[in-house]
Amino acid sequence: MQRRLIATAVLALACSFPAAAAPQPARPAVTTQLPRTAVPRHYDIAITPDAAAGTFAGKVTITLDVTQATDTITLNAADLAFTRATLTPAGGTALAGGTRVDAAAQTAAFTFARKLAPGRYKLALDYTGIIGTQAVGLFSLDYATQDGKKRALYTQFENSDARRMIPSWDEPFYKATFTLAADVPAAEMAVSNMPVKSRTTLPDGRVRIAFGQSPKMSTYLLFFGQGDFERVTKQAEGTELGVVTRRGGSSQAAFVLNESAAILKEYNDYFGVRYPLPKLDNVAAPGRSQFFGAMENWGAIFTFEYAMLLDPAISTQHDRQEAFATVAHEMAHQWFGDLVTMAWWDDLWLNEGFASWMENRMMTRLHPEWKTALNVVSVHDRAMLRDSVATTHPVIQHVDTVEQASQAFDDITYQKGESVIRMLENYVGDAAWRDGVRAYMQKHKYGNTVSNDLWASIEKAAGKPVKSIAHDFTLQPGVPLVRVGAPVCTNGDTTVLLTQGEYSRDQPARKPLAWQVPVVAQTLGATTQARTVVAKGQATLTVPGCGALVVNAGQNGYYRTLYSPQAFDALSVQFGRLAPVDQLGLLSDSWALGLAGLAPVDNLLDLAAGTPEGAEPQVLGKVTDIFMQIHALYGADSPRRQRFDDYAIARLAPVLARIGWDADSGEAETVATLRADLIEALGAFGHAPTLGEAQRRYLALQREPGSVPAALRQPVMAVVARNNDVPGWAALRVAAKTEKTPMVKDQLYMLLASAEDRGLSERALELALTDEPGATNSAAMVREVARHAPELAFDFALANMARMNTRIDESSRSRFFPSLAAASGDPAMAGKVQRYAAANLAEGSRRDAETAVAEINDRIKVRQDRLPEIDRWLLRHAK
Ligand SMILES: [Zn+2]
Repeated sequence: MQRRLIATAVLALACSFPAAAAPQPARPAVTTQLPRTAVPRHYDIAITPDAAAGTFAGKVTITLDVTQATDTITLNAADLAFTRATLTPAGGTALAGGTRVDAAAQTAAFTFARKLAPGRYKLALDYTGIIGTQAVGLFSLDYATQDGKKRALYTQFENSDARRMIPSWDEPFYKATFTLAADVPAAEMAVSNMPVKSRTTLPDGRVRIAFGQSPKMSTYLLFFGQGDFERVTKQAEGTELGVVTRRGGSSQAAFVLNESAAILKEYNDYFGVRYPLPKLDNVAAPGRSQFFGAMENWGAIFTFEYAMLLDPAISTQHDRQEAFATVAHEMAHQWFGDLVTMAWWDDLWLNEGFASWMENRMMTRLHPEWKTALNVVSVHDRAMLRDSVATTHPVIQHVDTVEQASQAFDDITYQKGESVIRMLENYVGDAAWRDGVRAYMQKHKYGNTVSNDLWASIEKAAGKPVKSIAHDFTLQPGVPLVRVGAPVCTNGDTTVLLTQGEYSRDQPARKPLAWQVPVVAQTLGATTQARTVVAKGQATLTVPGCGALVVNAGQNGYYRTLYSPQAFDALSVQFGRLAPVDQLGLLSDSWALGLAGLAPVDNLLDLAAGTPEGAEPQVLGKVTDIFMQIHALYGADSPRRQRFDDYAIARLAPVLARIGWDADSGEAETVATLRADLIEALGAFGHAPTLGEAQRRYLALQREPGSVPAALRQPVMAVVARNNDVPGWAALRVAAKTEKTPMVKDQLYMLLASAEDRGLSERALELALTDEPGATNSAAMVREVARHAPELAFDFALANMARMNTRIDESSRSRFFPSLAAASGDPAMAGKVQRYAAANLAEGSRRDAETAVAEINDRIKVRQDRLPEIDRWLLRHAK
């Protein structure tokens, strides 16, 4: 799955609002592991959706093997009502079963009059179920068109929601084959994992569409979609690649379709096992989810439009890269996840860490001009932010319940998983890593694995031990800190002592955990790197050359680097000569260590001040991003914030002036992204010329939609919407209401929620809970308000919890409310989040709430301790 990016690092204005939430009873913990007495082999499913009524009828015949004598067969079912259950032994007569549904455990048990001997049976079930409006189970999405509102159906089953459409052994371990048939309106298209095998017209005018039999796979990978669709295709590598969109959308799918062909070729080679299905569709859907952006259903990837379609009138360079990243991620899952699947959610990172790593690897290979190799540092930043508070968890973790499985889709599973893979690949070499992956795919295809299966294949291919390092980084939580002593130059070589500690934001006094840390170091100007593994707490490393010493050269290691003052000063004065990726690494480490009080914040401010004008756009983008964070840290403290904003403007306005508002023909694509970031940042800092120019272009856009290039449309609208006044907001709302293009409509509602004015924020919250924005925009609007007014948004959501809950995916609820509060720096909020968790969340499902509390407490501490340091630096550097 690809997650939506939740910007917990974005800080916001402090304001407070009294809570009025009535406590709800704690939800039961749903343990998902079924009794291991029967194993499904094949599901033959027929469904008849009634899209208008929001219900469906289903029939399934499950071929299964009873493995231990029992009189009861228990499987998963949620919100299903059974009307018939029969069990037929091979060669025998049908037995009628009694049905017992346990809604809390999400199971249905069928009990028979006699004990069932081990052997083959067919279980036939008739039932009815619900079509929801949020992206779980079988669900509908409504969208505007020129011809009025339309409704399409889709499914979303990861992690544990196949049970909402099919009574099933809904655990990744139980792989089986599937055949699916659906009765749909004759004018509509239906899509599933496999191609259509037959179409039969029914007496009532509908058609029965039967799909071919799937390969052996887990339930969470099954897909069904139905609607007024169109499909474009392309042949590649003997596979039919398709993109399915709502009618009229396929012209925006050319980029993804073409890129899919190039990616498929790469993956067939890399994995050494060819893509095994006859077709691979990518199904684009309007709307959004709070939980995910895309899903890797085998042969039928599901992606929300905003993460896939490129509308020439509105899409930016950033959108283009996101579309590529999403399709590369989901296609990597066709192997890592679909062909070979983790045995249980404990090892979810095998799916997600790998797909995330592959997505960045593919961008670097197929689009070197995007310079995404530099993204490695922002991947570390996200992982380490989450991994440096006490509520973190190991990459491989124990999962008991459906809710815990949902919570496992986080920055540790994705970004730390990706970082660990990158570090280990760098440690064994890319050829050995690839050979290990190929052997693993070959050995485990159509099966299930645990992490040690991967380490065994890699170790064999690499011919050197990997497992114990891998265990250090996946079985224990946290971020190593490598302290770099004073470098000593002797006979043209640099010798330095490296000491391992731990980078923690809330447990500074704790004895550090121990890791074996693979370290790569290089001196400035040298061509050879030195490598070592820091084990048992320290290592002495000799590095060729005597220039400034870069530790974690290339930034492939998962650790923070803390230089001695002497080593840091040598790097600082030569900053412009470092490789761009190491410039990013030094900025990132200096900022993180400065915030944690492990190094002076001055280090970061000096580096940002000294970043050359001609630095890579991503390096200047990093400085911009850190300045935005500092701006938010000052919160509502106007005079101090003003002093910082003035400095940030003086530093960044010349960068925007140099690259200009309008793209030069032939400029690097990375410049386009920097331009958008600068416009938004300078707008936030209150830079009058930027605000004026944004306003001028916004008015031009109203008069003539084509007058502002697509690349500037989003940043211009973001600046204006953020500073909106009452008449401007009202006009934007009219535009949103009348807009007929779903993707544009969604954006406009999000812009309504981005206005920083208190009264407009309140109006946006009220609007979010009406039917106007559409069922899937509500939660996203509340979250958008939370970016600048977390206390307001949290209190509002809690006060309206029942209405709010109908507009959030069920799997996201335990994370949604805490996520609203996470950007707060108000001491009262920590207690509010704790009270919310105690009243509403099962004890084992409070990690997201506890993490939000840790973030709030950290922000309070940072404001108290670090902002005075920044104040002093600014005074010293005042013009
Ligand atoms: Zn994924």
